[in-house]
Amino acid sequence: MEQNKIPQATAKRLPLYYRFLNNLHHQGKLRVSSKELSEAVKVDSATIRRDFSYFGALGKKGYGYNVEYLLGFFRKTLDQDELTEVALIGTGNLGTAFLHYNFMKNNNTKIMMAFDANPDKVGKDIGGVPIYHIDDLEKKINGVQVAILTVPAAAADGITNRLVDVGISGILNFTPARITVPDSVRVHHIDLAVELQSLVYFLKHYPLDTEE
Ligand code: ATP
Repeated sequence: MEQNKIPQATAKRLPLYYRFLNNLHHQGKLRVSSKELSEAVKVDSATIRRDFSYFGALGKKGYGYNVEYLLGFFRKTLDQDELTEVALIGTGNLGTAFLHYNFMKNNNTKIMMAFDANPDKVGKDIGGVPIYHIDDLEKKINGVQVAILTVPAAAADGITNRLVDVGISGILNFTPARITVPDSVRVHHIDLAVELQSLVYFLKHYPLDTEE
């Protein structure tokens, strides 16, 4: 597959590029220079030029990149034309925020359903997404490829095993628990507390050079 040729580091920057180019497109811009892009997405322009060469996009000097072409490529590569169904597990504070957030703005992903163990939450809906009891996971999750985990850490392992058993492809894990899955399942881990702590640490110990 053509996609496999893109290095992982480049692939990770794709959604970032996609979002920015989409904004430019909405503003009616037809071209963008690597310098403009570089300033907007905070990636150095040499990296951008290398990344874009993998996409078959050759910028012309003094002309820049064709916005339409790049968007077409990104849409295809990021599966923008195909809806990815998502389930959210745990409708606490964080989970509820995600249910209210409009992911469709930038991606073709949609939270189709949510699960919780709290009977007070089950049977309601938040942001138009129905909340089912976690006991009904296997019964309801049919066809969903991706799960967002926003349960307490102690519940993460048990739920992960059940998700794996129903054939989930990817898990976005917001719990501090390090979950174990077979090689066929991809897990991305986002620990907001750790990220915040890390930012504060870097601010303190690696102050930015403001003299540029
Ligand atoms: P809240 O204040 O609504 O409880 P929170 O984010 O502080 O939110 P957490 O204790 O982190 O609460 O729990 C997040 C959500 O996960 C809650 O809605 C809780 O009912 C739910 N939950 C806890 N255990 C499970 C489980 N085993 N399966 C599914 N959902 C669960």
